Amino acid sequence: MMRKGGAGSAACHETSRSSAPPAGVAESEWRDWGWQMRHRIRTADALREWIDPTPREIAAIAALAERFRFVITPYFASLMDPEDPDCPIRRQVVPSPDELGDPAGLADPLDEVAHSPVKNVIRVYPDRIAFCVNNECALYCRYCLRKRMVGEAGWRMQKRELEIALDWIARTPEIRDVLLTGGDPLVFSDARLEWLLKRLRAIPHVELIRLGTRLPVTLPFRVTEALCSMLERFHPIWLNTHFNHPKELTPDAAEACDRLLRAGIPVGNQSVLLKGVNDDPGVMKALCEGLVRMRVRPYYVYQAQLLEGTAHFRVAIEDGVSLFKGMRGRTTGFAIPRYVLDTPHGKVPLDHPFAKGRDGDDFVVEAWDGTIWREPNPR
Ligand code: SF4
Repeated sequence: MMRKGGAGSAACHETSRSSAPPAGVAESEWRDWGWQMRHRIRTADALREWIDPTPREIAAIAALAERFRFVITPYFASLMDPEDPDCPIRRQVVPSPDELGDPAGLADPLDEVAHSPVKNVIRVYPDRIAFCVNNECALYCRYCLRKRMVGEAGWRMQKRELEIALDWIARTPEIRDVLLTGGDPLVFSDARLEWLLKRLRAIPHVELIRLGTRLPVTLPFRVTEALCSMLERFHPIWLNTHFNHPKELTPDAAEACDRLLRAGIPVGNQSVLLKGVNDDPGVMKALCEGLVRMRVRPYYVYQAQLLEGTAHFRVAIEDGVSLFKGMRGRTTGFAIPRYVLDTPHGKVPLDHPFAKGRDGDDFVVEAWDGTIWREPNPR
């Protein structure tokens, strides 16, 4: 393939342009998610067709080959800036030698394995589970919380193991909400996903099925009309996706989200706060306002975990609190995501303390512009 490199040069605050196939690839192939999966980039040589990798990036691809897979979809590669190694798209998916120097990083910082009653079912709360139905993704994000399992053969779910997990859910009546995640559940074929949804819908106490997927961002052509028609037969289905930067908000991604929304599936977004990707207030505001324009609700932004090989992505929590404090009053309320820290005991909101607490008969609060307001609040 001949490099295209068009969308990658957009300034970071702009919404990105539509992706276009490189020379020699037909538009119909480019928009076929099967073609995209078959032509994924897995080597430094293949990456050279899209960007000019730096010697550091090439060295990291070799050094990290055994630790965490390097895979990128051509679509996502087309969003990268070919010349800028600090491109926020590139930083998310191209290996860096910084991944080798993180003595504090852990393999499983949320202790998910200890919270698994059966393989790949994670239960932290009484009434809901994360069900890691597969361990494959369209591409591999360098900061992935489930690095220990994505792309690793030992974590692959055989059909028999999916059956065991489904039986556990059926035998556990407290579970009313099932998040299908991974890996990425939309890497499954429509037929396999339909089989899974049918089985879940046959369990009377499962009220809500949620999909956690990054495919609207990394491979939006996966979100076909046929997939959406199948999904809407299993409502209530909710979906959260994972945009991190305004350059990811392409017309292709917007169309994928629109197809889901037209099938009645509420679409939310969960980002990770990543140094050099979205820790700039202007970038975060542009991301969240762009999502709202696409009718996607910015829901959570996660503090990056103390995860192996990710020290170069971590932002101090105080800086994250100050970033989201700065958005209040300066954009639409529902464009402001909740900044959270995930812990082995569940998610904890990291909001700036606008509510200061009781002072005599008043409750004291701080407005967005710093004004202190005393609300009469007699006991
Ligand atoms: S898409 Fe999600 S699960 Fe897959 S590698 Fe990226 S962060 Fe991890």
